[in-house]
Amino acid sequence: MSALSVVAPPDLSTLRSLLAGAATPVHFLAGGTDLLIAGCPLPDTGLLVDLSRMDGMAHIATEGADIRIRAATTVVMLADHCGLRARFPALSEAAAQCGSVQIRNRATIGGNIANASPGADLIPVLLAAGARLSLLEPGGEWNEVAILEFAPAPGRLIVEVILPKAGILPRSAFVKLGARQDLTISRLSLALLAELQDGRFGVVRLAAGAIGPKPRRLPHAESALEGRRLEPATLRDFLSSLVVEVDNAIAGRASQPYKRRAVAGLGLDLIARISSMSPRHELFEEALA
Ligand SMILES: Cc1cc2nc3c(=O)[nH]c(=O)nc-3n(C[C@H](O)[C@H](O)[C@H](O)COP(=O)(O)OP(=O)(O)OC[C@H]3O[C@@H](n4cnc5c(N)ncnc54)[C@H](O)[C@@H]3O)c2cc1C
Repeated sequence: MSALSVVAPPDLSTLRSLLAGAATPVHFLAGGTDLLIAGCPLPDTGLLVDLSRMDGMAHIATEGADIRIRAATTVVMLADHCGLRARFPALSEAAAQCGSVQIRNRATIGGNIANASPGADLIPVLLAAGARLSLLEPGGEWNEVAILEFAPAPGRLIVEVILPKAGILPRSAFVKLGARQDLTISRLSLALLAELQDGRFGVVRLAAGAIGPKPRRLPHAESALEGRRLEPATLRDFLSSLVVEVDNAIAGRASQPYKRRAVAGLGLDLIARISSMSPRHELFEEALA
């Protein structure tokens, strides 16, 4: 007989009391797309908490200075939310490219972060924005950490994702490359957030997924753009720095030669998107010449 029990608390305060008093390890189930569909092994013992019916755990607030997203918000909600798309398009774009319609209807932002796959599509965008996570720790205490510092652990619940105002730059975009067009796991993804005014970059934040064990910021490539004019010389430096970033991340891996080439196409695609230019604009052709 299984020693795993399942509970579905109605709200956060019930769950908090449950965490505070739990004598066995606590695990969480949100949309179940990793835990059930993708066949990750279910825990044998302890308490499995179903988050999908909890009041207030699926909500996006974009009206305040920071954007706040509750952890059981589904990927389709992120893709379709008008306020989010207007203020922070990169996250909506990443969500719209996650899995299939069926996966997006079930998958949650909390599950995407906690599952921590190298190719998770939402994480590069959140990383570039300097996202913070509001957590309920196993004993029931509150905690807040930067997404980069988060480590999943039994009984550690992600309650909310906070995108600080300072991290939400005016222009943003996400691109990914997979083995096919739809329902594809990223082989390489990039998220770019930038200030770009009168043809000159201000602050730039860039992060990549599927290069190495974890999504990562690309500081060399950020510096290649920051404070510079959008012109062929800048783009050439940007492309060279992207290749350096790939070399730093996956030196010696079989995918390195492919990703060194692929990253240039994705990088220019992102610049075209945030500057509302055609990828066929002569500026990009000159940069590649
Ligand atoms: C066919 C298929 C295609 C996919 N395509 C993509 C894709 O293109 N891009 C992509 O990024 N992902 C993809 N995925 C992976 C998956 O859909 C995402 O990682 C999803 O966001 C996981 O969310 P979930 O709610 O389903 O998590 P679950 O399966 O419910 O949980 C996953 C893990 O996270 C933990 N967890 C869940 N919520 C919390 C929380 N609030 N706090 C702490 N821990 C928590 C669970 O305990 C479990 O360990 C795909 C999966 C499948 C099966």
